[in-house]
Amino acid sequence: MAGSGVFEEIIDGDVFKYYSEGEWKKSPSGKSVSIINPTTRKPQYKVQACTQQEVNKVMETAKIAQKQWAKTPLWKRAELLHKAAAILKEHKAPIADCLVKEIAKPAKDSVTEVVRSGDLISYCAEEGVRILGEGKFLVSDSFPGNERTKYCLTSKVPLGVVLAIPPFNYPVNLAVSKIGPALIAGNSLVLKPPTQGAVACLHMVHCFHLAGFPKGLISCVTGKGSEIGDFLTMHPSVNCISFTGGDTGMAISKKAGMIPLQMELGGKDACIVLEDADLDLVASNIIKGGFSYSGQRCTAVKVVLVMESVAGTLVEKVKAKVAKLTVGPPEDDCDITPVVSESSANFIEGLVMDAKQKGATFCQSYKREGNLIWPLLLDNVQPDMRIAWEEPFGPILPVIRITSVEEGIHHCNASNFGLQGCIFTRDINKAMLISDAMETGTVQINSAPARGPDHFPFQGLKDSGIGSQGITNSINMMTKIKSTVINLPTPSYTMG
Ligand code: NAP
Repeated sequence: MAGSGVFEEIIDGDVFKYYSEGEWKKSPSGKSVSIINPTTRKPQYKVQACTQQEVNKVMETAKIAQKQWAKTPLWKRAELLHKAAAILKEHKAPIADCLVKEIAKPAKDSVTEVVRSGDLISYCAEEGVRILGEGKFLVSDSFPGNERTKYCLTSKVPLGVVLAIPPFNYPVNLAVSKIGPALIAGNSLVLKPPTQGAVACLHMVHCFHLAGFPKGLISCVTGKGSEIGDFLTMHPSVNCISFTGGDTGMAISKKAGMIPLQMELGGKDACIVLEDADLDLVASNIIKGGFSYSGQRCTAVKVVLVMESVAGTLVEKVKAKVAKLTVGPPEDDCDITPVVSESSANFIEGLVMDAKQKGATFCQSYKREGNLIWPLLLDNVQPDMRIAWEEPFGPILPVIRITSVEEGIHHCNASNFGLQGCIFTRDINKAMLISDAMETGTVQINSAPARGPDHFPFQGLKDSGIGSQGITNSINMMTKIKSTVINLPTPSYTMG
């Protein structure tokens, strides 16, 4: 149960505390924020509504702690991260239970998220030890006009305080994908968890506390993003922001100062299906890609662009598989569970009604109970329908029938998003040419888009973000190059 056993100290009465200066604290504001269980639609947990004063304190201590941490030997930093990873995995059950209750993630997937997060932290430690231990050595005489009189030594140094803001859909995994690289690289870290998912994040942070990280190096302030978000992202002590979420990221990019930004935003991942594709493989991937976690994944398949000649057969195959999806509460490990909030369900319904009014073919009848929306495949979707372009973040999948490959590429590239895309064909030459033409950060050939494995580079183009994630890229992004130049006197010794 949340807040029990080793997690007892993170709760006070029925309100979870925030984490600052290596301690669990109550906000003097006396205010809290409720977390609504998407399944019951009733308040499940409460977290502190942190104020600007608390943010200031957290930043002040993060700055001090970072200076010492940067001097801590790399192998010691790695050792602590491995310890935190082991503790996190040991306590996967209560953390996964929070995910079930806060974001209605199916029970098994919730456990997977926590275990994957532990693995991610360990990998960061290993990768950091390798790449941060290396630098460059340059000699001046390779540049025109220079003698061999300057030796340049470069190494990677930390940025300072990293602010991490993950979204609700993978609150633990997308938090540690920022925490692990930041800490191994010698930064301190301030986490602002999503409100839905905050309690799972607080439990995760406690695993770092139990591992024995220095006071103030990692902090976690809770509260609504709309209330403390601007204060955090524009705080003068922040040296880097790593954000994952929706359009909010664009607003943050405009407001943040001259600091490195890692923005992983929305997507409208296209699945292009050619005539020669293995349609059974495509259908399985559309189900996995479009409906896992009820479509609430940045890399979900969000539009199918299929050649007209095979569209009928593919739609029938997908329909048969949709009929087998289980729908219900996350505790029962159903395939389709309630979406995160009532406003999200209303937004999805708006897209469905627009498609209905404009004549899309409904492969199933539309059904909704509270936040639970039954999976729906919409065939014969046209470009004038909102669902052709917008990200539903729900179990609704549009199919657009195309008559040429160019039409599919054009639709993909006309989107303001450019996260991932996928192509299904048995012709690798065609696949490579289409991949080259698609304006997305990643293209998957013969599989649905996916964020993992977590050491692969992961990035979006256009409104899907800036910078690149993946463990190595994140470590590099959270450091800067420092050079020391040794200037030699001339003339040099003569040889022989
Ligand atoms: P969101 O509404 O943008 O929220 C993301 C985070 O930003 C939350 O922690 C939120 O806190 C915080 N926030 C809200 N207002 C803020 C402000 N003014 N300043 C600073 N932070 C603020 O996104 P979401 O609904 O959680 O997640 C869904 C979106 O994330 C989708 O668009 C999805 O595609 C995208 N996503 C992208 C990736 C990727 O890697 N590209 C991965 C996963 C999800 P509160 O919860 O307290 O509001």
